[in-house]
Amino acid sequence: MRERLRLLIAGGFYYSGLVKLALWLKQRRGRRLIILNYHQAGGNLQAHLRYLRRHYRILHLEDALSELYAPPRKRQDPRMPLVITFDDGYLDNYVYAFPIAEEWRIPITIFLIPGFIESGRYFWWLAARYLVQHTSVEKVTIDGRTYHPAQTRERGALAQAIDARLRYAQSVTERETLLDQLQIELGVSLPERSREGMDDPTLPLSWAEIGEMEQSGLVSFGAHTMHHPVLACITDVAELGNEIEECRRVLEARLKQPVRMFAYPIGKPEHIGLPALKAVKAAGYAWALTTIEAVNTPYTDPYLLGRLPGDITQHWLVMAAELAGLLGIVSRVKRQKARISLVRLNRGIGHILFNLLACLFLPRKLLGMACAPFGPESDQKRL
Ligand SMILES: [Zn+2]
Repeated sequence: MRERLRLLIAGGFYYSGLVKLALWLKQRRGRRLIILNYHQAGGNLQAHLRYLRRHYRILHLEDALSELYAPPRKRQDPRMPLVITFDDGYLDNYVYAFPIAEEWRIPITIFLIPGFIESGRYFWWLAARYLVQHTSVEKVTIDGRTYHPAQTRERGALAQAIDARLRYAQSVTERETLLDQLQIELGVSLPERSREGMDDPTLPLSWAEIGEMEQSGLVSFGAHTMHHPVLACITDVAELGNEIEECRRVLEARLKQPVRMFAYPIGKPEHIGLPALKAVKAAGYAWALTTIEAVNTPYTDPYLLGRLPGDITQHWLVMAAELAGLLGIVSRVKRQKARISLVRLNRGIGHILFNLLACLFLPRKLLGMACAPFGPESDQKRL
């Protein structure tokens, strides 16, 4: 009901000309860059892109960032610049988004995780739900609590417990070992590209598909770590550096061109931490993207760029009204909170200590709950 009402209001804004007026006023407020952050393709993506290409100047991410930080100059096309990014490298980016990008000549950027491309394994943040849905064991014990997956009311709690254990692992080895154990205990094999081929669009892209998209000149690629850990929870500094540096090295070797863009996994300040921020700078990246909901200006820190969520379940009219600033008061309050966290991250040590202590000492279940309410992220879509 609430969604229907939002759609009705958004339609009113659009067809009365208010969206266009608000956009025009925004364009006059100085240089701004909107970076949209999608994950999976499909849903209403085509309708989103149809609207965006008419009302925004869609650019390659590198071109848009170079333009944002260069001295201002008058442009013939006064529309606000906008960039479309996809995180994680889902197969559906190739199957669904790439043909649209080709047909309409829209540039897109995909942030890749080489470890998953190489292994073809199921993304870990989708694993908890899959394991719980497909298990037929009578009971399983996690962190001393026994769950009965056959009982509907226990399934959600079990999925949450598994997800928290995977999410807040202190190393990739810990996470992968746990995943292997869970598959054995629950009697479920997670999908893999080697078995599923093209049948499951939530699996990772292959190098061949990435190569084909790169050849088109419409798709550029950035780094998203080797294995997508929550960087703030990695306790070994050498592993942290490796996740960030090795990713760049592997991608450059495969793509045969410099990789200068990085996107932090999950991407809120509490998931990043100061050591990761320093490691990204040390690894030679020129820009790094968060998921902090903010529009960028020439004064934005190039290593803490903001992005607005692209939600393929959202109607394009609602998206248009939100981007124009006419809807989404709740989102703006969240953005304000995120900005406060950002200041803390820049100031550093107190926030890092908090993250470290939280990862080490808070009960996993509590951590899962504490870090869950980031909108669709908790719905396993925005990682
Ligand atoms: Zn991600």
